[in-house]
Parts: sequence; structure tokens; C-alpha cells
Amino acid sequence: MSAVAIKGWCPGALRPMRSGDGLVVRVRPHGGRLDAKQAAGIAALAERYGNGLIDLTSRANLQIRGVSDQGHRPLIEELSRLHLLDPDPESEARRNILVTPFWSASDDTCFLAAELEQRLVMGPPGLPTKFGFAVDCGTERALAGASADIRIERSIAGELIVRADGAEHGRPVARSEAVKVALALAEWFVDFGGARDGRGRMAAHIGAGAKLPDALRGRAEPVRTIAEPRLGLYPQGAMVGAAFGQVTRATLSYLAGCSPGLRMTPWRMILAEELREMAHCEGLVTQADDPILRVVACPGAPACREAYADTRALAATLAQHIAADERLHVSGCAKGCAHSGRAALTLVAAREGFDLVRGGSTRDAPALRGLSAGRMIADPSVLTGRTDAACL
Ligand code: SF4
Repeated sequence: MSAVAIKGWCPGALRPMRSGDGLVVRVRPHGGRLDAKQAAGIAALAERYGNGLIDLTSRANLQIRGVSDQGHRPLIEELSRLHLLDPDPESEARRNILVTPFWSASDDTCFLAAELEQRLVMGPPGLPTKFGFAVDCGTERALAGASADIRIERSIAGELIVRADGAEHGRPVARSEAVKVALALAEWFVDFGGARDGRGRMAAHIGAGAKLPDALRGRAEPVRTIAEPRLGLYPQGAMVGAAFGQVTRATLSYLAGCSPGLRMTPWRMILAEELREMAHCEGLVTQADDPILRVVACPGAPACREAYADTRALAATLAQHIAADERLHVSGCAKGCAHSGRAALTLVAAREGFDLVRGGSTRDAPALRGLSAGRMIADPSVLTGRTDAACL
């Protein structure tokens, strides 16, 4: 087996991460899309070499869970046959590209994503593991709220722009130079102290006062962002979700059978191309107001060895009590893998029960400590402190 990822690294297919349920093997679809054969192939491999569960990640990747040490080698050979493997772990780690699922054949997104993938295989060196790119060239931006450091977008004047995350404006570019400018921006980030000890993000670098050189700075205003993407029908197909961003191999296989291509998203949803009605299958969430969408939870125990509690069973039980415009994040430990930001309510499992953070993240000071799952289920009003609330 290839090296297992050191803690704090993003896992890949060639460098998987060890978890409580076995190896987690991350697959990065090219251009953010799986054709039906690839999707069906991943479903079959998850059954043969994993435990049949597949995560949808916030980087629009998939993770095959529960792979044994012995199963890893044949699994990556099969992934290679599906054209889903990079030449080496370094290239794989660099290929961190989000692609808007709302692309159309005429908006340059696919062309630029493919060119960026090719060029990233060879560099630039020294980028932090979590450093990423977003290719989002439609007439509205879909990925503005998703994690990326360098963005290829469109300006309100309709031209392509390259924009550093954290900068308000971008530099207009011709299609033929967009990737070159994006990579020059990445090199500038490394050369001018943005990457330290394998970490560092563009917005923080610029926020700390780093000044972009004239050649990489622009005054072009990006197009507006679309409202938060929701489940439903779009011109490109049907956007479907999965509770806790996890599907079974049967669900993925079903989607592969009814759509020519699956576009992965950073919202733990899948856009199934060409579907003109919502796909209905056990394990798929299709209603935008489904309470399960109001909760976020990491795998928790027993899937993760760091976890102090079973997170998803508790989150699913509490979901019905969460208000439609609020979010509950249940984390198996303070690391907060499922959601790094703030939430209306955050429960962090600890040795002595759950800590409750209101309006913060797993790193913030809790309002209450030592809550048991039983107490919260019996009296969900303890979460908000509003005893009169039927729906919290
Ligand atoms: S937050 Fe903690 S318990 Fe949950 S997956 Fe991450 S490391 Fe595991």
C-alpha cells in the first residue's frame, strides 16, 4: 500500500487516510464530473473493497470508506482503469479544483478546468495541501462561498477574470492566458510568504497585508453570486442531496443508471445531468425543506477513532427540532471536520458528554458543558435555552 496520510493532510486515492472503519480513499473526479461508467464503477468498487459507504466532500470529491490495507492496491488499479487516478501522490494533492456544476458548453469552464488540471500536475511547488482553485465562469457565480484560493470567474462586463480570494476585484484575462495568470498568482503566493509549514490560505495572506503585484491585480468586478444552491431542478439536471453527505453504493449506482453524468458539488449534493424530474431512491434527499438538511455531522463513532460519541444518530434525531433557517453541527471532537465555520448551534462531543456552542464553531467557548444525548432528546429546548419553543 502507498503511504497513509499523516494527520492534518487531505487524503487522496494514492495516499489514503486511516479511520475507525478502515482506509478512506478519496477520489477526485476530473473537471468535477463523473460519467455514468465512472460513477457505476466507484459504486461497484465501494462494495468490493470498502464498506459500501461513499462520502461527498466539501471539495466536491468522493471518499470510499472502509477499505482494508490489502484492498487498497487492487482498488487503485481499478480506479486507474476508470481514469480516476493521478500519476503520483504529489500531483493528486495539487489537483484541488472546484468546478461550478452549472457550467454550460459555451462558458469556458470545462476547457479552463481541464487546462488547469494538466498544468497543475507539474507545479507550482510549495503550495499548501488545502490550497485550491475554483473555475466558475458562468454569468452568475456559484462557488463564491466555497473554499478556494484562486478563482477564474467572469466580470460584470462579461470578460474572464482571475481573482485572488480575499481581493474584491480580479484581473481581466484572455481565455488563452487565464490558467497562466492563475498559476502565476499561485507562485506569487508561495514566493511572498503565503505558505508556511505546509499551511496558508490566500485570503488570510491578503488580509494580513500582502500586496498583489500590478501584473496580477485588476479592477474588474466579478458577476453577482447566485443564492445558496438548493435541491431541485435546473436547466442542467436534477440537484439531489444525501443525509450527512454520504451515499451508499446502491444509491450511487442508481444515479449512474439514470443520468449520463454526475456533477459533484461542494455542498454535498450531486447534479444528475439531463434529469427533468427529481430522482427518487432510498438514501437521496430531494425536498429542499427536509429537516435532515438542517444538521451537519462528521462520521463520529465508531467510524472515526478520535470521536467521543455517535454524532449522526443524535443529529438525525434532533433535526426535526431545528428551525428552517438555522443549522445544528454535531462534531465527534473539537476538530470539526464536517464544518469548520460557525453554526447557530454546535455540539462538540467530549469525554464528559457534549459541549454546546451557540452562534460559534467547535473552537469557541461553550455556553453549556456535559450535556447527555438523552437529555437533549428528552428536552431539545436546552439547545437554545428558549423553553417556549416548539421548533427551536
Ligand atoms: S471531527 Fe473529530 S470525530 Fe469527527 S471526523 Fe473529525 S476527527 Fe473524527
